[in-house]
Amino acid sequence: MKSKSPSVVVDTRQSAKARFRPIPLDSITFGEGFWKNRQQTIRNTSLKLQFEECEKTGRLENFRIASGRRTGTRSGLVFNDSDVYKLLEAASWALASESDEVLEQLIDTAIDEIAAAQQSNGYLNTAFMFDNEGLRYTDLKNDHELYCYGHMIQAAIAHKRSTGKETFFDIAIRVAQHLLDTFGPGKLESTDGHEEIELALVELYRETGTQEYLNLAHFFLSMRGQSDTTMTGGENRVHGTDRSYFQDHLPVSEQHEADGHAVRLTYLASGMADVELEGAGDGMQSALDSIWDSAHLRRSSVTGGIGARYQGEAFGDDYELPNERAYNETCASLGSIFWNWRMLNLTGEAKYAEVIERQLFNGALSGLSIDGTGYFYMNPLTSAGGYSRTPWFTCACCPPNIARLIMSLASYFYSEHDQELWIHQYASGSVQASGLSLAVDTDYPWSGDIRVTVTGNSTVEHSILLRVPEWATNSTVVINNESAISMVEGTYHRISRKWSPGDTLAINFPIGPRRIYSHPRITNNSGRVSLARGPLIYCLESADQTGSSVFDLALAPNTEIAATYDPNLLGGLTLLKASGTELERTSISSLYSDARTDQNGSKPKELIAIPYYAWGNRGDSQMQVWIPEK
Ligand SMILES: [Zn+2]
Repeated sequence: MKSKSPSVVVDTRQSAKARFRPIPLDSITFGEGFWKNRQQTIRNTSLKLQFEECEKTGRLENFRIASGRRTGTRSGLVFNDSDVYKLLEAASWALASESDEVLEQLIDTAIDEIAAAQQSNGYLNTAFMFDNEGLRYTDLKNDHELYCYGHMIQAAIAHKRSTGKETFFDIAIRVAQHLLDTFGPGKLESTDGHEEIELALVELYRETGTQEYLNLAHFFLSMRGQSDTTMTGGENRVHGTDRSYFQDHLPVSEQHEADGHAVRLTYLASGMADVELEGAGDGMQSALDSIWDSAHLRRSSVTGGIGARYQGEAFGDDYELPNERAYNETCASLGSIFWNWRMLNLTGEAKYAEVIERQLFNGALSGLSIDGTGYFYMNPLTSAGGYSRTPWFTCACCPPNIARLIMSLASYFYSEHDQELWIHQYASGSVQASGLSLAVDTDYPWSGDIRVTVTGNSTVEHSILLRVPEWATNSTVVINNESAISMVEGTYHRISRKWSPGDTLAINFPIGPRRIYSHPRITNNSGRVSLARGPLIYCLESADQTGSSVFDLALAPNTEIAATYDPNLLGGLTLLKASGTELERTSISSLYSDARTDQNGSKPKELIAIPYYAWGNRGDSQMQVWIPEK
């Protein structure tokens, strides 16, 4: 069987320019703990509910109508096929680590419906069958046909790698041949308004070794920023004539800012990085570096969330980072993880793994409820109430997207390279790679203590590289009870030796609560502070403040912040408690005043903060990440 790994994987060779070889999912296990719990929730609850939603909302029925097995009219948004594909990818990754007959049956049945709907020329999109056949590829700006194919190809690769079956993969290969027949120089010279096909084609190239798929991925990238008619179709109500909405305003190698629709931008950058990884990037690295700086150094929330604006689900200007009106789509944080994973593979630089961790624990994870039944599409940093999780969306991109990421998550934790084993992220479990076997024991992210034990002999010298998070100042590692070695935050710490079974690394990342302040140009956060502990950003939620509005609370400067683990709250989490004040609103009657109103009429109040990802799980509530400090 092929390696069970989601991306940037090659079984026989390393990607041309990759810093690492990826480690397949069957060489990594998650032990009991934070991520294993979430995987079990998705496996046991979310995936089955998502299959039900795809049935209830006609997404699966659309394939039956397209194949003629059922009569009726196709329903839903033009890109609804992609939700089925993403769900199949998530469910396939679930089978990579654990068999599940119910899930396997659901997958096989859906694949059978999809296969029946495919036309003899390979075409398959339920929105463009029968009377709509003439509209195929006539409006690539808006119709997402290649986007849907991208998700199908990724899902089919996941299914093949996880189960060894080729039923879905055969469909994807016929689709890919159809694309080769239809698009390219001298054929239809166009590209899709929503990027996604590019990274899927590169992964298909990795899976098959077929050069034409890589070439076609490069071709689709090169079609951006050409004439304003290269991408077929007309204006729509969102983008109008603004081509930066779908990153079509400049050739990709000349783009230097994170502009336009945020999810599209992250998928574009992932595709560019993939092409670059395979040595076909034509200097895309410099564009990638500057777009990355724009997105992550000037246009990113403290949770990692990106895409500040509701209008166009788009990036704002530099430092335009609202709190209550932050859009921060779950998919944009997921796209950021896909992109940063590829950048990490290109460079081996810790800053990319840092973003992955920030997104994972904050911007992305907030999109999923603790019980696995509800989702956020937008992830604001303040809520006055009236915003709650729902079991599904009309535009349902986020639910199956977070499921596919978390079910394949283990492969983002480690990489190998020659005699090096790189640890990018921390969770209990085990890994076998690069001639080493390690067991990892930790309560991360609740504890910063991590114990790595060597469980197999190494016959030659091997290096273990530990990522030291940027927040972990004064970190240490103790090897076999020798004296403690200091590690530098924001880097990988390398330890090289011939390892023996029982060798241990006792890592300590000082995880204690800390305050975070924002750049002065982020005016919403003036005079405010956010709280963090380890990789987790915290927030105040009304459910914890015993009757007070979160908007009347302020944190006292310099006060000590205490951390307490509560095993019974929201699946178990560490609370932060600190002294502060509560404003007595009744003392203020007018909207405006000659005198400052924020310093009178306050009484002492203990503030309780929970991790941001956990808010919105106890009914309608108020929430605030940036807290006044006074
Ligand atoms: Zn989404």
